[in-house]
Amino acid sequence: MAECKFWSGHKALIETADQLLGYTTWRDTRTALIIFNRNVDFSKVISEAQRAMKDHQHYKSGPTKQGETIFRYVFTHPDDKQRDIIVTLMLFICQSHKSRMLDIQGFRFPGYGRCIYCGSTGPLKDEHIIPFSLGGKALIEAASCGDCEKVTSYLDGYLARQIFHEYRAHAGMKSRRPKERPTELEAEIVKADGTREVRVFAPKEHPYFLVMPVWDLPGIMLAEEPNHNFEIMQAHAYWWIPESMQKTAEMEREQVRATGTINYTAFARGIARIAYCQAVAHLGLAGFDAMDLPGLILRKYPYVPYYVGVSREDPPPPEPRGHLHRIDIEPVRIKDQDHWMVSL
Ligand SMILES: [Zn+2]
Repeated sequence: MAECKFWSGHKALIETADQLLGYTTWRDTRTALIIFNRNVDFSKVISEAQRAMKDHQHYKSGPTKQGETIFRYVFTHPDDKQRDIIVTLMLFICQSHKSRMLDIQGFRFPGYGRCIYCGSTGPLKDEHIIPFSLGGKALIEAASCGDCEKVTSYLDGYLARQIFHEYRAHAGMKSRRPKERPTELEAEIVKADGTREVRVFAPKEHPYFLVMPVWDLPGIMLAEEPNHNFEIMQAHAYWWIPESMQKTAEMEREQVRATGTINYTAFARGIARIAYCQAVAHLGLAGFDAMDLPGLILRKYPYVPYYVGVSREDPPPPEPRGHLHRIDIEPVRIKDQDHWMVSL
């Protein structure tokens, strides 16, 4: 279990530690506080943060140093004074690259003469950074071979048809197959007596839900060993219910039921593909070490949560109207190594 925040002082760190301990259950024995820092004076932040840890009411002992900026503490468990809980404090420098923010919609980045996933030089196809079906218009030219393109178009299709299917219908998003755009959508209504009924709506009148799982941060950022399991922290839910329906629902005491399953691995690989393409477009194919990412995208590397995760901070406020997506790429230092973090 981990909490991640930008550094904003001694008191704020104590509050963040309270928040983290507040999420724990008796079973939890290992937690992490991940602090990003935009300040220049990083060594002062490190000593201030350590002072805050010692000032916390549950502080017991430590730290043991696990890296230049990783410190392990023992706290008493908030639910049981006899029980210890490990709190690892990790501090990262995170430079803001906002000044370099570019609108890349419509950009065509030149290819590299070989597949960016497997290196094959066979016939190559253009690769959209954000899937075309989600409104992405920027692409890398001649970037994927036939075999890899099959995999990436499956991943893009998964995002478009499974995760964002209803959203795309509501937003009237472009499709390569306009005939497949749904003209009606179903929703399940739970009536006052508990019985359920499936009703059909035009996309404009359809009650719409989008549930985004919140996993733990990528394992690599938590200095964990690679593993298969997505640790579910919570979920962000977005919905819209037409006004007419809100009124009937109130009068008749009806509820709209949102159901659906998410294939976490496919979802995360789809996200990883977007992040990888963004990195290739901005840093160049030889400009960074892709580690296991191409293998992960091609389903050859199994430990997906090691590289893909979700920040538990509240999602940022919506971008101005007309901005469909936002991708940031910024350097972070993890365990004395420089990495690139891509956030979508
Ligand atoms: Zn390939």
